[in-house]
Amino acid sequence: MKLYELTIHELHEKLKNKEVSSVEATREVFSRIDAVEDKVRSFVTITRDEALKQAEDADKRIAAGDIRPLTGIPIAVKDIFCTKGIRTTCSSKILETFIPPYDSTVVAKLKEEGAVILGKTNMDEFAMGSSTETSFFGITRNPWDLARVPGGSSGGSASSVAASECIASIGTDTGGSIRQPASCCGIVGLKPTYGRVSRYGMIAFASSLDQGGPMTKDVMDASIMLQAIAGHDRMDSTSVGIAVPDYSKALSGNIKGLRIGLPKEYFIEGMDREVDESVRKAVKDMEKLGAEVVEITLPHTEYAVAVYYLVATAEASSNLARFDGAKYGYRAKNAKDLLDMYKRSRAEGFGSEVKRRIMLGTYALSSGYYDAYYLKAQKARTLIKKDFDDAFKKCDVIVTPTAPTPAFKIGEKTADPLQMYLSDIFTISVNLAGVPAISLPCGFTGSNLPIGLQIIGKGFDEETVLRAAHSYEQATEWHKKRANL
Ligand code: GLN
Repeated sequence: MKLYELTIHELHEKLKNKEVSSVEATREVFSRIDAVEDKVRSFVTITRDEALKQAEDADKRIAAGDIRPLTGIPIAVKDIFCTKGIRTTCSSKILETFIPPYDSTVVAKLKEEGAVILGKTNMDEFAMGSSTETSFFGITRNPWDLARVPGGSSGGSASSVAASECIASIGTDTGGSIRQPASCCGIVGLKPTYGRVSRYGMIAFASSLDQGGPMTKDVMDASIMLQAIAGHDRMDSTSVGIAVPDYSKALSGNIKGLRIGLPKEYFIEGMDREVDESVRKAVKDMEKLGAEVVEITLPHTEYAVAVYYLVATAEASSNLARFDGAKYGYRAKNAKDLLDMYKRSRAEGFGSEVKRRIMLGTYALSSGYYDAYYLKAQKARTLIKKDFDDAFKKCDVIVTPTAPTPAFKIGEKTADPLQMYLSDIFTISVNLAGVPAISLPCGFTGSNLPIGLQIIGKGFDEETVLRAAHSYEQATEWHKKRANL
C-alpha cells in the first residue's frame, strides 16, 4: 500500500514506530496530488511549503517522544475554515483574496495536535449546494466517475479523501454537506451534535445549523478526528460544555441488543432501487450482528426541506450582509457613492445560487411575511425536533439512506434548484433537530458508484453512532475499496 492510501491510524503506527517520517509521508501525498489533481480538482489552494514545514515540526515532536494521534498526519481543510495567513475563500469571488488574521478553532486544534495542513478544499459557494458546482473556482469531479459530481457542499473535502490526495479531511454540514458528499464519494463523514464542535472562525452560512466534522477513510479515523476537534470553546457561545468522552472506547465492535429505528417515511416509493437494496441489506447485516430492528415514525419529515429552505436562507441573508465591499473581500471599482459600492460589490461578488438564497431569506424575514414563513418554519422545526425525541424513546439509533441517489452527472441538476435541494431530503432533518449522524459506505451500484448508509444518534451521543457504524464497517469490506484514478 502507498503511504497516501493509509488511514490516520495506520499512518500513525508507522510514524510512531519510526518506519516513516511525516516529511516522507507528506511528500508522497503531494506526489499523489500532483498526479491526480488535474482530473479531480479537490483544492482551491495548496499550501505545499507551509505543509512541509509543519511536517518537519511534527517529526521533531515525534523524535522528542511527543506523538498524538494526528501528529504528522497530512490533512485537507474545507475552504470555509479561517486559516491564519492562508487565503480563505468559501469558494466565492467575494472572498477571492481574503487572508484571515486568525485561525478557526478547528484549525487551531488540528495544529496543536501537530497535523499537517495540505491546503484548502473546494466547495459550493458559501456551502450552498449539493454538488460543488456553484464554486467560483470551478467544479470538482467524483474520483469514482469523473463525469459525476462529488456531492456537496464539502465536495473537495470528500473527493480529496476518496482520491487519496490526503489522509483525511474536515468539512461542514448545514443540511447534509458532510454526509451527502461522503456518500457520493464512498467515504465516512460525521456531522457532530450542534454545539459539539466550535464554529469560531468557520464562515457562517446558517448559524443555528452549521457544524464542522471529520471526513475520513474509516470510522476509527472519524473518532480520532472528532476527539481532536470537539469541546467547548469560549469563542463560540453555542459550543457546549459537556465533557468530551474518549471516543476510542466506543469502538467496541459490539452492537448486541442495540435498537435500530427504521423510519417508515425514509423508505419510500421512487427511491433509487440500488440504494434501497443496499441500505436494507445493511440493516440485515446489523441484525446479524445482534441489533434489533424497530419500526419508528418521524411524521413531520415531509416538511423538512421547506422548513430548512426558510430557516437556512433567513439566517444566510443576515450572515452574508457583512460582505459589503467595505471591510474586506471584493470591492467593485468605479462606484458612484457608498450605496452604489455596496450594491455593485455584492452584485459582482456573489454567484447566482448565493443571491437566490439571500433573496429568499430576506423575503421570509420581511415584516409582511415573517409570521407566515419564518415564524411558521421555526414552529415546524420544533415539531421535527420532537419527532426525533419521541423516536429515541423506542430506539438507540436511526438508520436511513444518506442520499436518495448515488452521485449524479455534472450539470444534471443545475437547471432545476428544487431537484438539487431534494438531494438532502434524508440529511436535512438531522440538522434541524441538532442531533449527530454519520454516513458510511454500504455498497456500490452496478456501475461502481458508492452508496451511503446514514446512522443518526441522540444529541451528544456520538459514541453510540460511532459504535454502530464501526461494528457494521468491520463486518464488511466496503471501506477498503479505493477509487481507480
Ligand atoms: N445542500 C444543502 C444546501 O444547499 C446543504 C448544504 C450544507 O449542508 N452546507 O443548503
